[in-house]
Amino acid sequence: MTGFALFAAFPPPSIWEMPVDPSTMPPIPFMPTLQPFPVIVDHSYIFALTLNLLMVMSRVLVVGSGAGGATVGMELAKRGVDVTILEAGGYPKIGTEMRALGMYTGGMFGPGEFSRDGVEILRTVMVGGSSFVTLGNGVRSLQGELLGFGIDLEDEFVEAESELGITPCPVENLGPRTRLLMGASEELGFEMKPMPKFIDFTRCKGCGKCVLGCVSGAKWTSRNSVGEAFRYGAKLLMNHKVLNVLHGDGEVRGVRVSTPDGVKELEADRVVLSAGGLGTPVILQRSGLEAGSNLYGDLFVDTFGLVKGADFGSELGMAALVDEFHESDGFIMSPMVEGPLDLLTNRMPLGRKMTALRGGQLIGLMTKIKDEATGVVDADGGFTKPVGTVDREKVDKGYEKSRLLLEAAGAEPGSIFRTHIRGAHPGGTAGIGRVVDGGLETGVSGLYVCDCSVLPEAPGKPPVLTLVALGKYLGKQMAGL
Ligand SMILES: Cc1cc2nc3c(=O)[nH]c(=O)nc-3n(C[C@H](O)[C@H](O)[C@H](O)COP(=O)(O)OP(=O)(O)OC[C@H]3O[C@@H](n4cnc5c(N)ncnc54)[C@H](O)[C@@H]3O)c2cc1C
Repeated sequence: MTGFALFAAFPPPSIWEMPVDPSTMPPIPFMPTLQPFPVIVDHSYIFALTLNLLMVMSRVLVVGSGAGGATVGMELAKRGVDVTILEAGGYPKIGTEMRALGMYTGGMFGPGEFSRDGVEILRTVMVGGSSFVTLGNGVRSLQGELLGFGIDLEDEFVEAESELGITPCPVENLGPRTRLLMGASEELGFEMKPMPKFIDFTRCKGCGKCVLGCVSGAKWTSRNSVGEAFRYGAKLLMNHKVLNVLHGDGEVRGVRVSTPDGVKELEADRVVLSAGGLGTPVILQRSGLEAGSNLYGDLFVDTFGLVKGADFGSELGMAALVDEFHESDGFIMSPMVEGPLDLLTNRMPLGRKMTALRGGQLIGLMTKIKDEATGVVDADGGFTKPVGTVDREKVDKGYEKSRLLLEAAGAEPGSIFRTHIRGAHPGGTAGIGRVVDGGLETGVSGLYVCDCSVLPEAPGKPPVLTLVALGKYLGKQMAGL
């Protein structure tokens, strides 16, 4: 039996569980996957513990606690590596749209940040990153493309699907709007199927507020993995914003980080950047390394219409999926209705905004496209995200099909409108084959990247499952498995 297997079989007792200064440990509000630490009666754990301590190989700093970072951190900590996760954000309160506005990075002008060319990109800076505000959609993406770079994620996908409890949305959790649109799809000959979700449907209340943070704890977020990493001794330092990487002679030495107590330098043997598609390229450039081009966003528009006389309640968003146009036309469609604040902050005429007040009659579909990776993130965090003719054609095709579906579902033709173009999956800015190699390592030895920025092209689909698989892959590689 290897040391790793022994450690997994005989984890040390709870006194060893958190070898960190308690003042650096924030409360974990909800960790559905956390199990009580097993009580060990077999003394062989002492042998396993000794092995584990011998295996505290090196100090690894993981920058960011989103899907990519938290997974690498968890996988390394599980294998006895000394890991500290540095997170720029904290644990904001959740549950209302106003609170959610504080979590998103848009500031005064919207939930999202705007590119210089006016495209809005949504993300959150907090423990859990954007995984905290997902709709729980869990599909495989870019598996073949990553294999082309020598990254075979089959085993990691299987592991991740099991750990995240991915299951197609059960029929009884499909809300009335979704059912109406599924009926319309059948009529028009489109295949609309239940969306695979990382949601525990025994807890889901169908409130439709996933994007504000799940108050019932039904949805998997990377906070679960942070909690798991904790259990194995990892540390989490919140409100620690990494400014740049310290390196010399081609080797990583640590990071410079802004903390509530001032700017500090932290040493490390290895560093994993997981600050997201907009965050990681900024850190790389401020470290004198090339990054930032090839930004994509998986751009989307929502198309809405009003069904006269209807009085729909709340329901789970994106509970179903049409993906038959992904290969041929580069877009997917999914039933979606936004909350009033989201509609009110959307860039559309006042008359349209007022439809937000008639939310009970509103039905909608999201069109998400696989956009061209033509944006650029600068060292100051500003970015461009041009929407060229090819992308506009994809959006228009999706809009036309959505329109047909909405009409078939009973929406008044004159009431149908679409929102402005946004994106919620920024990535590509430290791509494999350009900025990192097939081992996700940069040109600086010991400096890795694991988040959306390494993806070689826009998935055009929800990326979290792929990021979790990639995090597992890198964690295993770094631990020498
Ligand atoms: C509203 C919304 C709904 C979505 N729904 C889905 C869905 O249903 N399914 C799906 O698969 N995807 C969904 N996505 C996309 C998905 O959430 C993201 O693509 C994914 O979580 C990105 O993970 P990441 O690890 O690349 O980066 P992030 O999640 O952005 O993580 C980066 C982390 O780094 C931290 N950070 C940033 N800068 C620094 C710094 N300088 N120093 C230290 N820490 C830093 C951030 O706070 C964050 O915790 C959604 C996104 C949004 C916005």
